Amino acid sequence: MSTATKSKNGKVASSNGKATMKQDPIVAETGLPTEANNLYTETVSTMLHAAELMNLPRYLRLILAQPKNEIMVHFPVQMDNGQFKLFKGYRVQHNNALGPYKGGLRFHHDVHLDDVKSLAFLMTMKCSLVGVPYGGGKGGIKVNPREHSASEMERIVRRFTAAIAHNIGPDYDIPAPDVGSNSQHMAWIADTFSFLSEIGGDNPAAVITGKPVSYGGSLGREKATGQGVVDTLVEMLPELKLKPEKCTFSVLGFGNVGSWSAKIFQEKGAKLTAAADHTGFIINEKGIDADDLAKYVSSKGGVAGYPKASKCSKDDFYKAKVDVFIPAALEQMIKEPEAHMLNCKVVAEGANAPTTPAGEKVMLDRGIEVLPAILCNAGGVTVSYFEWVQNKTFQAWDLEKVDAELNKHMVKAAHKTRAARGQYKCDLRTAAYVAALQRLAEAYEVRGIFP
Ligand code: NAD
Repeated sequence: MSTATKSKNGKVASSNGKATMKQDPIVAETGLPTEANNLYTETVSTMLHAAELMNLPRYLRLILAQPKNEIMVHFPVQMDNGQFKLFKGYRVQHNNALGPYKGGLRFHHDVHLDDVKSLAFLMTMKCSLVGVPYGGGKGGIKVNPREHSASEMERIVRRFTAAIAHNIGPDYDIPAPDVGSNSQHMAWIADTFSFLSEIGGDNPAAVITGKPVSYGGSLGREKATGQGVVDTLVEMLPELKLKPEKCTFSVLGFGNVGSWSAKIFQEKGAKLTAAADHTGFIINEKGIDADDLAKYVSSKGGVAGYPKASKCSKDDFYKAKVDVFIPAALEQMIKEPEAHMLNCKVVAEGANAPTTPAGEKVMLDRGIEVLPAILCNAGGVTVSYFEWVQNKTFQAWDLEKVDAELNKHMVKAAHKTRAARGQYKCDLRTAAYVAALQRLAEAYEVRGIFP
C-alpha cells in the first residue's frame, strides 16, 4: 500500500513512489549516467531515497554515490585452436569502511561496467545490513562460459587472476562466485593467487570464497544464498498470514540461487508450480519436484524439455497464480509489464536488482510485498564470511554450525529491516537501505574523513 512520509528536512517522500520522485541533485553532482533505465543510477537513486528519508549527512550520500575504485583489464588468452583472443575483465571496489571489499565475479558475455558498479554498490549495502565486517565489491569477465572448453576457461580465469592479483587479497578484496562462475573457478583463482602474490599471508586461499570444500571451502556455501532466501521467507511470511508449508511458488532462473531456493523451500513443505531460465518456461499446477528438476537442469543445461511439466509462454509463467515468486536470474527482469502480470502475494528477490523502480511501484500499488535483495539474498555473502573466518583461523565448521549462524544473521537483518520500516513507515526495500545506511553512518561518524 502507498504511504507518504515527511522527512526531517520537510520534503514529502513517497515510500513506494521512487519511480515518480524527482532525481536527487547528487545524481548530477556525481556525474551518474542520465539515460533512462541505467541500472547504476536506478540503484543509487533508491539508496538516495532512503538517505533523504532518514536525513543521512550529505557527505555520506556523496561518498556512497560512486565506487572508490573501478578497475578494467584486457588480457590475451590462447584458445584450443591456437588463436589468441582478447578478454575484458572488471573489478569494482565500492566501499571498504566496514572491512575488506567483498563480492562475486560474474562470467557473462553481456557484463558491463555499470552492471558491475551496481552490484558492487549493492554488496556494500548488503554486508552492512547483514552485519558482516566487509565492504562491497564486484567483478567479472565478459565471457560466455558455455562457449569455452574447460581448459580454455581455466586459462581465462587464471590469466584474469594474474591481471587483478595486485588489487585483491585476503585482507583487502575477497571475490566469490556469481552468475556463470562456480567453485572450480574459485579454486583456480586461489591457486593462481597463491603463486603470484606476496601479500597472501598465512593462507592465500582466503583471497576468495565459494571454493570447493576439499580446498578451503565451507560446508553450506553452495546452498547458502538459497538457504538465506528461505530463512528470510520463513521469518517474514507469518506477518503476511502465510505459512511456508502451505505456499505455492514459482522461480525465475534455475541456477545456483534459484535451484537451492526451490529445493530448500520445498523441504519446508512449499510446492513449486512454475520455473523458467534462459532456455524456456515450464508449468505444472500439480507440482514440480525441485530436486528432480535440478538434476535435469544439471544434465541438460536448462529447464526446457523437462518431461514432468508443460512448456508455457513467458506471459503464462508470470501470470501463474502462486503465493511466492522468486526471481533468481538477472537484473531488471521485472519491469512494469511483468509486475502487472504477476499473480503472487510476495516477491522474494534471490537475484540482485531483479526489479526496476517502476516495476516495484506497480507491485506495491497492487499490494504485493517485496522482500528486497539486500536482505533476501544476503545468505551467500554471510557464509562466504564464515568460509573466510575458517580459512584465517584454520578451522572447519560442521554444517549445523554454518546453518545456525546463517539463520541468526538472516533473522537479525530481518529484524533490523522491520524496525526501520516501523520507524520510517516505508516499504521494505527503503527500510533495508535505511538499516544498512545506519551502520555505515555510525562507522563514518567515528572514523571521520582523512585528512
Ligand atoms: P547462475 O549462473 O547459477 O544462474 C543464473 C540463472 O539465470 C540460470 O538459471 C540462467 O538460465 C538464468 N538466466 C540467465 N539469463 C536469463 C534470462 N534472460 N531469462 C531467464 N533466465 C535467465 O547464477 P546464480 O549464482 O544463481 O545468480 C543468480 C542471481 O543471484 C544473480 O542476480 C546473482 O547476482 C544473484 N546472487 C548470487 C549469489 C550466489 O551466491 N551465487 C549470491 C547473491 C546473489
